[in-house]
Amino acid sequence: MIATGRDIAAAVRGKQRSAREVVDEHLARIDARERELHAFNLVMADEARAAADALDARIADGEDPGPLAGVPIALKDNFCMRGIATTCSSRILEGWKPPYDATVVARLKAAGAIVVGKTNLDEFAMGSSTENSAFGPTRNPHDPSRVPGGSSGGSAAAVAAGFSAISFGSDTGGSIRQPAALCGVVGVKPTYGRVSRYGLVAFASSLDQIGPFTTTVDDAALALEVIAGHDPRDTTSIPESVPDYSAALNEGADGLRVGVVKEFLAAEGLAPDVARRVHEAVDALERAGAKVDEASVPSTIFGLSAYYLIAPAEASSNLARYDGVRYGLRVDAPTTAEMNARTRTAGFGAEVKRRIMLGTYALSAGYYDAYYGKAQRVRTLILREFDQAYESFDVLLGPTAPATAFPFGAKADPLAMYLNDVFTIPSNLSGHPAVSVPFGTGDDGLPVGVQVLAPALGEVAMLRAAAAIEAAAPS
Ligand code: GLN
Repeated sequence: MIATGRDIAAAVRGKQRSAREVVDEHLARIDARERELHAFNLVMADEARAAADALDARIADGEDPGPLAGVPIALKDNFCMRGIATTCSSRILEGWKPPYDATVVARLKAAGAIVVGKTNLDEFAMGSSTENSAFGPTRNPHDPSRVPGGSSGGSAAAVAAGFSAISFGSDTGGSIRQPAALCGVVGVKPTYGRVSRYGLVAFASSLDQIGPFTTTVDDAALALEVIAGHDPRDTTSIPESVPDYSAALNEGADGLRVGVVKEFLAAEGLAPDVARRVHEAVDALERAGAKVDEASVPSTIFGLSAYYLIAPAEASSNLARYDGVRYGLRVDAPTTAEMNARTRTAGFGAEVKRRIMLGTYALSAGYYDAYYGKAQRVRTLILREFDQAYESFDVLLGPTAPATAFPFGAKADPLAMYLNDVFTIPSNLSGHPAVSVPFGTGDDGLPVGVQVLAPALGEVAMLRAAAAIEAAAPS
C-alpha cells in the first residue's frame, strides 16, 4: 500500500519517519520502473535528497515543516522552477531554465513538499495521450501497452506508479481529469482563478488551470488548501479566502442535490462499460443520502467545437513568443524572419503547428466572426445553461473520458483524439471546477473515472460528492 500525502506528512511531522527516508523510498520506485514508463522528463534525485535533508534538519531544530512535510511531489514540465530546465516536452525550449519559481511551486516548497521531478506531457499540453511529447510517450502503469492519457500523462502515471505521493498538472480542456481517469487516480481542475497560474507556461489563457493528482480525495483537498488562494501576480486570481476543504469531507453526501447530465450519458462514443460505472456511482450517491435527478445542459455537445477554435486561437497568440530570440532553440539564418521560421519549423511538433495554423486562421480578418466570435457565443451559452442547472443542483455527474486507456497509435486521426475531451471541455469553457474520481474498472480491467462537476467556487460540494463516490468504489 502506497502511503498518502496526508499520512506521509503526519509521520514526518511526528518524527516517526524522516523526509529523507520517504524520498529515498520513492526514488527507489522510480529506479525500478521509470525506464519502462517514462513518466519524467527530469528526475531530480540529488535535489530531492538535499531538500529532504534540509527539511529534516529544520524539524530537528523544532521548526514547523509545513502541512506537506516530506511529501514527494512531481510537477508537470510546463511549471517554472528556478534554475531547472522547463521543456513543455518541446524542442523549442531546449536549454531554457526559468529564473523564477511559479507561485504554486513556491507555495508547495514552503509547505514542506519535496519535488522529485518534472513530468512528461504532450508538447505544450496539446493532446490527450502524451504521444505528442517530443521526448517519447509515457506509458500507463496499469498496462504499459496503453496510453496514460494526456496532456498531463506523466503526472498521472507518476502518482499511479507511486513515484510521487502527489503530482500537479494543468487542465485546459481536460488534461488533469482525463489522464487521472485513465491511470486510476484522483484529478482536480479547480475553479478558473482559484489557483495562480503565475509561472505556468501559457497554452490557452482563458482556460488554463493548475490542479493536483492524488491517490485519495482527502489528499486532493489537502493539496488544494496549499496551492489555492489569491496571487497578485496572476490578474485572473480570485481574491477570496480558501475554505477548509479537508474538514468539508467529513460532511458526507447527505442532502446533496446531484444532477446526472443526460447529454453526457446519451453521447455517441461513450463506452457501455464506462456508462455502467457512472450509473453505479449514481446509485452509490443515492445510498449515501444524496438526492439524484436527471440534469440537462443541452449545448455541452457543442463545447468540443467551440474549444477547438478558442484554444488554438489563444495558443497561436501565446506561442508567438517562441521566435528564436527570447527562449531556447535558435536555428540561424541570414535574415531575422528566416531565423524565426526555421526555428519554429524545427522546434515545434506537428500537433502544435496544426493548432497554431488553426488558431491563426480562426482569428484572421474575414473569418473572425464566423469562427472565433461564434465559438465565444457558444461558450456563453454553455455557461448560462450550467448556471441554470446549478439552480436545481449542487453538483453534476458524468463520465470523465468516453472509454478506458487506449493503445498507442489508436487515435492517429486528430479528430479521434479530440473526441476524448468531450466531457471535460465544458467545465473549462465555463470556468467551473470538476474532479475525476476512480470508480472500478472497465471490461478490460483498466481504471474508469467518474466526473463530478460543480459551479464556480463549488469545490466543497464537489469534494463531498467525490469522497462519497470514492468510499463506494468497487475494488
Ligand atoms: N486534450 C486537450 C487538448 O489537446 C486538452 C489539453 C489540456 O487540457 N491541456 O487541447
